[in-house]
Amino acid sequence: MTKKEFKKEETTKEEQTPETNHAPKVRNLSPTKIADQFWCEMQLHFRLLLGMEPTEVMIAGADIHRSLEEELGPVVEVSVETRDDELITFILQQYLKLKMLKDHGLTRELPVLGVLSGFPVIGIIDQLEIIEVGNEKRLLITDYKTRKSKRAPSYEQKRRNNIQLQVYWYTLHNLLTGKFTREMFKEFLGIKEKLKPSTELLKQLPENLTELLTEKTPEELLKENFKLLKQLPKLSDELQAIYLHQKDRTIVYVERTFFHEESFETDMEWAMGYWEGKREPNRSPQKWICKFCQFTDKCEYYLRDYLKEKEG
Ligand code: SF4
Repeated sequence: MTKKEFKKEETTKEEQTPETNHAPKVRNLSPTKIADQFWCEMQLHFRLLLGMEPTEVMIAGADIHRSLEEELGPVVEVSVETRDDELITFILQQYLKLKMLKDHGLTRELPVLGVLSGFPVIGIIDQLEIIEVGNEKRLLITDYKTRKSKRAPSYEQKRRNNIQLQVYWYTLHNLLTGKFTREMFKEFLGIKEKLKPSTELLKQLPENLTELLTEKTPEELLKENFKLLKQLPKLSDELQAIYLHQKDRTIVYVERTFFHEESFETDMEWAMGYWEGKREPNRSPQKWICKFCQFTDKCEYYLRDYLKEKEG
Protein backbone atom coordinates (compact mmCIF):
# COMPACT_ATOMS: atom_id res chain seq x y z
CA MET A 1 0.00 0.00 0.00
CA THR A 2 1.31 3.41 -0.89
CA LYS A 3 0.33 7.06 -1.29
CA LYS A 4 -0.34 8.12 -4.86
CA GLU A 5 1.57 11.19 -5.93
CA PHE A 6 5.01 12.71 -5.52
CA LYS A 7 4.68 15.25 -2.75
CA LYS A 8 6.79 18.39 -2.66
CA GLU A 9 8.66 18.90 0.60
CA GLU A 10 6.29 20.26 3.22
CA THR A 11 7.10 23.70 4.62
CA THR A 12 4.98 26.20 6.51
CA LYS A 13 3.67 28.97 4.29
CA GLU A 14 5.12 31.99 6.05
CA GLU A 15 8.60 30.55 5.75
CA GLN A 16 8.50 29.78 2.08
CA THR A 17 10.34 32.94 1.08
CA PRO A 18 13.57 32.29 -0.85
CA GLU A 19 15.28 35.13 1.03
CA THR A 20 15.37 33.06 4.24
CA ASN A 21 18.86 31.76 4.90
CA HIS A 22 17.94 29.27 7.59
CA ALA A 23 16.12 25.97 7.43
CA PRO A 24 12.38 26.34 6.88
CA LYS A 25 10.06 24.71 9.38
CA VAL A 26 9.18 21.19 8.28
CA ARG A 27 6.59 18.95 9.89
CA ASN A 28 9.08 16.13 10.02
CA LEU A 29 12.51 15.16 8.76
CA SER A 30 13.18 12.12 6.62
CA PRO A 31 16.26 9.94 6.03
CA THR A 32 16.27 11.25 2.43
CA LYS A 33 16.29 14.92 3.49
CA ILE A 34 19.10 14.27 5.97
CA ALA A 35 21.10 12.31 3.38
CA ASP A 36 20.63 15.10 0.83
CA GLN A 37 22.46 17.47 3.19
CA PHE A 38 25.59 15.40 2.51
CA TRP A 39 25.18 15.82 -1.26
CA CYS A 40 24.51 19.55 -1.19
CA GLU A 41 22.76 21.20 1.72
CA MET A 42 22.24 24.40 -0.24
CA GLN A 43 20.46 22.47 -3.00
CA LEU A 44 18.17 20.85 -0.42
CA HIS A 45 17.54 24.32 1.04
CA PHE A 46 16.41 25.63 -2.36
CA ARG A 47 14.22 22.61 -2.90
CA LEU A 48 12.51 23.13 0.43
CA LEU A 49 11.89 26.79 -0.25
CA LEU A 50 11.09 26.71 -3.95
CA GLY A 51 9.93 23.15 -4.57
CA MET A 52 11.11 20.99 -7.41
CA GLU A 53 9.33 19.05 -10.11
CA PRO A 54 10.18 15.33 -10.15
CA THR A 55 13.15 14.66 -12.43
CA GLU A 56 13.54 11.81 -14.94
CA VAL A 57 15.73 9.93 -12.44
CA MET A 58 13.17 10.37 -9.65
CA ILE A 59 10.35 9.07 -11.87
CA ALA A 60 12.46 6.09 -12.99
CA GLY A 61 13.36 5.43 -9.34
CA ALA A 62 9.70 5.49 -8.29
CA ASP A 63 8.81 3.04 -11.10
CA ILE A 64 11.52 0.61 -10.03
CA HIS A 65 10.47 0.82 -6.39
CA ARG A 66 6.90 0.14 -7.38
CA SER A 67 7.87 -2.95 -9.41
CA LEU A 68 9.98 -4.23 -6.52
CA GLU A 69 7.03 -3.78 -4.16
CA GLU A 70 4.70 -5.49 -6.65
CA GLU A 71 6.99 -8.52 -6.78
CA LEU A 72 5.79 -9.30 -3.24
CA GLY A 73 2.07 -8.70 -3.85
CA PRO A 74 -0.45 -6.24 -5.27
CA VAL A 75 0.12 -2.56 -4.44
CA VAL A 76 -2.90 -0.53 -3.31
CA GLU A 77 -2.51 3.16 -4.18
CA VAL A 78 -4.54 5.68 -2.21
CA SER A 79 -4.98 9.46 -2.24
CA VAL A 80 -5.23 10.95 1.21
CA GLU A 81 -6.78 14.31 1.97
CA THR A 82 -7.00 14.46 5.76
CA ARG A 83 -4.39 14.18 8.51
CA ASP A 84 -6.30 11.23 10.04
CA ASP A 85 -6.26 9.37 6.71
CA GLU A 86 -2.54 10.06 6.35
CA LEU A 87 -1.84 8.59 9.78
CA ILE A 88 -4.18 5.63 9.28
CA THR A 89 -2.50 4.86 5.94
CA PHE A 90 0.89 4.95 7.66
CA ILE A 91 -0.25 2.61 10.47
CA LEU A 92 -2.02 0.25 8.06
CA GLN A 93 0.95 0.07 5.70
CA GLN A 94 3.30 -0.57 8.62
CA TYR A 95 1.02 -3.34 9.88
CA LEU A 96 0.79 -5.10 6.49
CA LYS A 97 4.54 -4.84 5.88
CA LEU A 98 5.48 -6.12 9.34
CA LYS A 99 3.08 -9.07 8.96
CA MET A 100 4.68 -9.86 5.61
CA LEU A 101 8.15 -9.77 7.16
CA LYS A 102 7.09 -12.05 10.01
CA ASP A 103 5.34 -14.54 7.72
CA HIS A 104 7.71 -14.55 4.73
CA GLY A 105 11.04 -13.23 6.02
CA LEU A 106 11.05 -10.36 3.51
CA THR A 107 9.20 -7.08 3.13
CA ARG A 108 9.47 -3.92 1.04
CA GLU A 109 8.46 -0.28 1.57
CA LEU A 110 8.16 -0.48 5.35
CA PRO A 111 7.29 2.89 6.95
CA VAL A 112 9.24 3.81 10.10
CA LEU A 113 9.14 6.69 12.54
CA GLY A 114 11.74 7.90 14.98
CA VAL A 115 13.27 10.99 16.49
CA LEU A 116 16.56 12.86 16.05
CA SER A 117 17.40 15.88 18.23
CA GLY A 118 13.72 16.32 19.01
CA PHE A 119 12.63 16.24 15.34
CA PRO A 120 10.30 13.45 14.18
CA VAL A 121 11.89 11.43 11.36
CA ILE A 122 9.63 9.52 8.98
CA GLY A 123 11.00 7.20 6.32
CA ILE A 124 10.21 4.17 4.21
CA ILE A 125 12.72 1.33 4.19
CA ASP A 126 13.06 -0.17 0.71
CA GLN A 127 13.68 -3.71 1.87
CA LEU A 128 13.99 -5.57 5.13
CA GLU A 129 14.95 -9.20 5.17
CA ILE A 130 15.53 -11.89 7.80
CA ILE A 131 18.95 -13.46 7.15
CA GLU A 132 21.01 -16.16 8.88
CA VAL A 133 24.24 -14.98 10.50
CA GLY A 134 26.00 -18.03 11.94
CA ASN A 135 23.29 -19.71 13.98
CA GLU A 136 21.33 -16.55 14.55
CA LYS A 137 18.73 -14.62 12.66
CA ARG A 138 19.29 -10.95 11.85
CA LEU A 139 17.45 -8.21 9.97
CA LEU A 140 19.21 -6.75 6.95
CA ILE A 141 18.28 -3.32 5.57
CA THR A 142 18.68 -2.80 1.82
CA ASP A 143 18.21 0.39 -0.15
CA TYR A 144 17.73 0.37 -3.93
CA LYS A 145 19.13 3.18 -6.05
CA THR A 146 18.78 3.76 -9.76
CA ARG A 147 21.62 4.78 -12.08
CA LYS A 148 21.52 6.27 -15.53
CA SER A 149 24.96 4.91 -16.39
CA LYS A 150 26.55 1.54 -15.74
CA ARG A 151 29.49 3.12 -13.94
CA ALA A 152 29.95 2.66 -10.20
CA PRO A 153 28.59 5.55 -8.12
CA SER A 154 30.96 8.32 -7.00
CA TYR A 155 32.30 8.60 -3.46
CA GLU A 156 29.84 11.47 -2.79
CA GLN A 157 26.86 9.45 -4.02
CA LYS A 158 27.88 6.48 -1.88
CA ARG A 159 28.43 8.74 1.12
CA ARG A 160 24.97 10.32 0.71
CA ASN A 161 23.29 6.93 0.40
CA ASN A 162 25.23 5.51 3.31
CA ILE A 163 23.91 8.32 5.53
CA GLN A 164 20.37 7.45 4.46
CA LEU A 165 20.94 3.79 5.42
CA GLN A 166 22.43 4.81 8.77
CA VAL A 167 19.33 6.90 9.59
CA TYR A 168 17.12 3.93 8.70
CA TRP A 169 19.23 1.71 10.92
CA TYR A 170 19.06 4.12 13.86
CA THR A 171 15.29 4.64 13.53
CA LEU A 172 14.48 0.96 13.20
CA HIS A 173 16.88 -0.02 15.97
CA ASN A 174 15.07 2.35 18.36
CA LEU A 175 11.73 0.85 17.37
CA LEU A 176 12.97 -2.73 17.85
CA THR A 177 14.61 -2.07 21.19
CA GLY A 178 11.72 -0.06 22.64
CA LYS A 179 13.65 3.23 22.77
CA PHE A 180 10.96 4.70 20.57
CA THR A 181 7.58 3.78 22.03
CA ARG A 182 3.95 3.84 20.96
CA GLU A 183 3.37 6.78 23.29
CA MET A 184 6.18 8.68 21.57
CA PHE A 185 4.70 7.79 18.19
CA LYS A 186 1.39 9.38 19.22
CA GLU A 187 3.06 12.38 20.80
CA PHE A 188 5.32 13.16 17.84
CA LEU A 189 2.48 12.85 15.35
CA GLY A 190 0.09 14.83 17.54
CA ILE A 191 -2.46 12.02 17.87
CA LYS A 192 -4.77 13.10 20.68
CA GLU A 193 -8.16 11.77 19.74
CA LYS A 194 -9.39 8.60 18.11
CA LEU A 195 -8.37 8.38 14.45
CA LYS A 196 -11.28 8.05 12.06
CA PRO A 197 -10.94 6.96 8.41
CA SER A 198 -12.88 9.11 5.94
CA THR A 199 -15.41 7.58 3.53
CA GLU A 200 -13.07 8.65 0.69
CA LEU A 201 -10.28 6.52 2.12
CA LEU A 202 -12.54 3.54 2.79
CA LYS A 203 -13.86 3.70 -0.79
CA GLN A 204 -10.32 3.28 -2.14
CA LEU A 205 -9.40 0.26 -0.01
CA PRO A 206 -9.99 -3.34 -1.07
CA GLU A 207 -12.53 -5.37 0.93
CA ASN A 208 -9.98 -7.17 3.11
CA LEU A 209 -8.57 -3.84 4.33
CA THR A 210 -11.94 -2.20 5.02
CA GLU A 211 -12.83 -5.34 6.99
CA LEU A 212 -9.57 -5.05 8.90
CA LEU A 213 -10.42 -1.44 9.79
CA THR A 214 -13.86 -2.58 10.97
CA GLU A 215 -12.39 -5.33 13.14
CA LYS A 216 -9.58 -3.23 14.61
CA THR A 217 -9.36 0.49 15.29
CA PRO A 218 -6.23 2.31 14.01
CA GLU A 219 -5.07 2.53 17.66
CA GLU A 220 -5.37 -1.25 18.02
CA LEU A 221 -3.42 -1.74 14.80
CA LEU A 222 -0.71 0.56 16.12
CA LYS A 223 -0.52 -1.55 19.25
CA GLU A 224 -0.15 -4.66 17.04
CA ASN A 225 2.67 -2.96 15.13
CA PHE A 226 4.68 -2.43 18.29
CA LYS A 227 3.99 -6.04 19.33
CA LEU A 228 5.20 -7.30 15.95
CA LEU A 229 8.34 -5.13 16.16
CA LYS A 230 9.22 -6.73 19.48
CA GLN A 231 9.01 -10.22 17.96
CA LEU A 232 11.57 -9.51 15.20
CA PRO A 233 15.22 -10.56 15.33
CA LYS A 234 18.01 -8.06 16.05
CA LEU A 235 19.24 -5.71 13.35
CA SER A 236 22.42 -6.67 11.53
CA ASP A 237 25.08 -3.93 11.68
CA GLU A 238 25.59 -4.52 7.99
CA LEU A 239 23.80 -2.23 5.53
CA GLN A 240 23.32 -2.81 1.83
CA ALA A 241 22.81 -0.46 -1.12
CA ILE A 242 21.99 -2.00 -4.50
CA TYR A 243 22.38 0.21 -7.57
CA LEU A 244 20.17 -0.80 -10.51
CA HIS A 245 20.44 0.42 -14.07
CA GLN A 246 17.55 2.74 -14.88
CA LYS A 247 16.75 1.10 -18.25
CA ASP A 248 17.44 -2.63 -18.05
CA ARG A 249 17.30 -2.87 -14.24
CA THR A 250 20.45 -4.97 -14.03
CA ILE A 251 22.62 -4.63 -10.93
CA VAL A 252 25.33 -2.03 -11.56
CA TYR A 253 26.94 -1.98 -8.13
CA VAL A 254 26.45 -3.33 -4.60
CA GLU A 255 27.83 -1.48 -1.60
CA ARG A 256 28.03 -3.07 1.84
CA THR A 257 28.76 -0.90 4.83
CA PHE A 258 28.20 -1.01 8.60
CA PHE A 259 26.37 1.13 11.11
CA HIS A 260 28.97 3.01 13.10
CA GLU A 261 27.65 4.76 16.20
CA GLU A 262 30.42 7.32 16.72
CA SER A 263 30.58 8.53 13.14
CA PHE A 264 26.76 8.58 13.02
CA GLU A 265 26.64 10.84 16.06
CA THR A 266 29.22 13.22 14.57
CA ASP A 267 27.40 13.32 11.23
CA MET A 268 24.02 13.94 12.88
CA GLU A 269 25.39 16.68 15.09
CA TRP A 270 26.51 18.50 11.96
CA ALA A 271 23.25 17.79 10.08
CA MET A 272 20.96 18.85 12.93
CA GLY A 273 22.76 22.19 13.20
CA TYR A 274 20.98 23.23 10.01
CA TRP A 275 17.48 22.19 11.17
CA GLU A 276 18.02 23.77 14.57
CA GLY A 277 18.79 27.07 12.83
CA LYS A 278 22.31 27.21 14.27
CA ARG A 279 23.92 27.72 10.88
CA GLU A 280 23.22 28.54 7.25
CA PRO A 281 23.20 25.82 4.58
CA ASN A 282 26.63 24.63 3.39
CA ARG A 283 27.63 24.24 -0.23
CA SER A 284 28.27 20.90 -2.00
CA PRO A 285 31.44 19.09 -0.84
CA GLN A 286 32.65 18.98 -4.48
CA LYS A 287 32.24 21.62 -7.18
CA TRP A 288 31.41 19.07 -9.90
CA ILE A 289 28.10 18.42 -8.13
CA CYS A 290 26.97 21.89 -9.29
CA LYS A 291 26.96 20.64 -12.91
CA PHE A 292 23.82 18.65 -12.12
CA CYS A 293 22.04 21.37 -10.12
CA GLN A 294 18.86 23.23 -11.10
CA PHE A 295 19.60 26.19 -8.85
CA THR A 296 22.91 27.53 -10.21
CA ASP A 297 21.29 30.87 -11.17
CA LYS A 298 20.20 31.45 -7.56
CA CYS A 299 23.10 29.97 -5.64
CA GLU A 300 25.49 32.47 -4.09
CA TYR A 301 28.26 29.84 -3.79
CA TYR A 302 28.04 29.02 -7.48
CA LEU A 303 27.79 32.63 -8.60
CA ARG A 304 30.81 33.56 -6.49
CA ASP A 305 32.86 30.75 -8.09
CA TYR A 306 31.68 31.79 -11.54
CA LEU A 307 32.69 35.41 -11.01
CA LYS A 308 36.08 34.35 -9.64
CA GLU A 309 36.72 32.22 -12.72
CA LYS A 310 35.75 35.15 -14.97
CA GLU A 311 38.07 37.51 -13.12
CA GLY A 312 40.90 34.98 -13.12
S1 SF4 B 1 24.97 25.33 -7.43
FE1 SF4 B 1 26.27 23.86 -6.37
S2 SF4 B 1 26.53 24.69 -4.30
FE2 SF4 B 1 24.82 25.75 -5.23
S3 SF4 B 1 23.02 24.62 -4.63
FE3 SF4 B 1 23.62 23.79 -6.56
S4 SF4 B 1 24.97 22.06 -6.11
FE4 SF4 B 1 24.79 23.30 -4.26
